[in-house]
Amino acid sequence: MDTPPAQQVFEATPEQRAAAARVMARCDELASISSLDDGIYRSFLTPEHARCNARVAGWLEEAGLAAWQDAAGNLCGRLAAPGDGPRRTLMLGSHLDTVRNAGSYDGILGVLVALEAMAGFHAAGEALPFHVDLLGFGDEEGARFGTTLLGSRAVAGSWDPAWFDLRDGDGTTLGEALGAFGCDPAAIGSASRAGEELVGYLEVHIEQGPVLEDNDQPLGVVPSIAGARRFRVRVSGRAGHAGTVPMNMRQDALVAAASAVHLVERIADRFEIVATVGQLQCYPGAPNVIPGDCEFTVDIRAGRDHTRDLAVEALTDELARLIGSRGMRVAWEETHRAPAVECASWLQRVLENAVLDLGLNPVSIVSGAGHDAMSLAELTDVGMLFVRCAGGISHHPAESVAEEDVAAALAALELTLRALAAREREENP
Ligand SMILES: [Zn+2]
Repeated sequence: MDTPPAQQVFEATPEQRAAAARVMARCDELASISSLDDGIYRSFLTPEHARCNARVAGWLEEAGLAAWQDAAGNLCGRLAAPGDGPRRTLMLGSHLDTVRNAGSYDGILGVLVALEAMAGFHAAGEALPFHVDLLGFGDEEGARFGTTLLGSRAVAGSWDPAWFDLRDGDGTTLGEALGAFGCDPAAIGSASRAGEELVGYLEVHIEQGPVLEDNDQPLGVVPSIAGARRFRVRVSGRAGHAGTVPMNMRQDALVAAASAVHLVERIADRFEIVATVGQLQCYPGAPNVIPGDCEFTVDIRAGRDHTRDLAVEALTDELARLIGSRGMRVAWEETHRAPAVECASWLQRVLENAVLDLGLNPVSIVSGAGHDAMSLAELTDVGMLFVRCAGGISHHPAESVAEEDVAAALAALELTLRALAAREREENP
């Protein structure tokens, strides 16, 4: 009887293991650059941002790679292609800022894994037919000025001049903060890579969810970053005395809203998307008064805008019937809408093949969270590789990744760079 072939299991090389250990140690080191005494917080254009950029620039230079800071405060590095001929550029990156009381890996891991991949090619003298640029974005989270993705928007060339007037909690404008950081606001356009010949943009990022852990796999490939729509929904019935109005004569807005919340869950199941009621208030809101009005939020996200919009349509129709059958009224107000961003299918295939070549199974995961790749997608083709994080926990001090998974991410990124190099030699010899 034939025995089935043993499943190939990824084993890191000694170099990859050493690089992964370095990434883990450096994540810890950057975690100590914080404006909080008892937690991690590093926001845009602060002294902590400057120290973090300087530290990462030092690691780039130690590896023999060029390092500089662009006009938006992003930390940049380059592994240059040999020769003087015109070369396209492959961008790798993620963000170096954090939310308040953050974990050590969100964003940072992607920058440091990319840095190790570039350093590895440089040390081995393995030439690539394109420049590889590292981008450590100064702002993704929007923690200081309330607007997200400022660093990558500058690189994508979609900086809005109105942002110079955004103010932080102390009243400092973004324009003033840039100046104090040593950046010339008038030169912000120079951070844009819009005029360049680009291969694409790749981002390694922790999953920030539980799917990889649930699938017992270290790496996932992102087909798209979900687009979201958000609504405020008001159900109106009739307030009344909690003691005197018989049950069959009530128009209790909260009871109707409760069935609406169930409906949101059923619609999400039916369309295989995610939908959340995260806030709910009832009015007048007293223990002895039947709620006359109830207001709640609905957040709906899907990898495809079309699916999301069909779900919204179904929800609106069925909710109108449900509330109408109780003789009550429902009103919707849309408060937010952002389109889904597709990752380039050819980059997904390259990333998937790299993961398969390691003997691992590339799990396909629609990103429910926003990422710098969303901005870069306006400029070039983007791809994202997710790394398993313990318990799916993120934006929290308990954020945790395994060193073996970091080695696997690095190995997959190295294979991806080689595959892109082979493609580039064929297409642009
Ligand atoms: Zn992030």
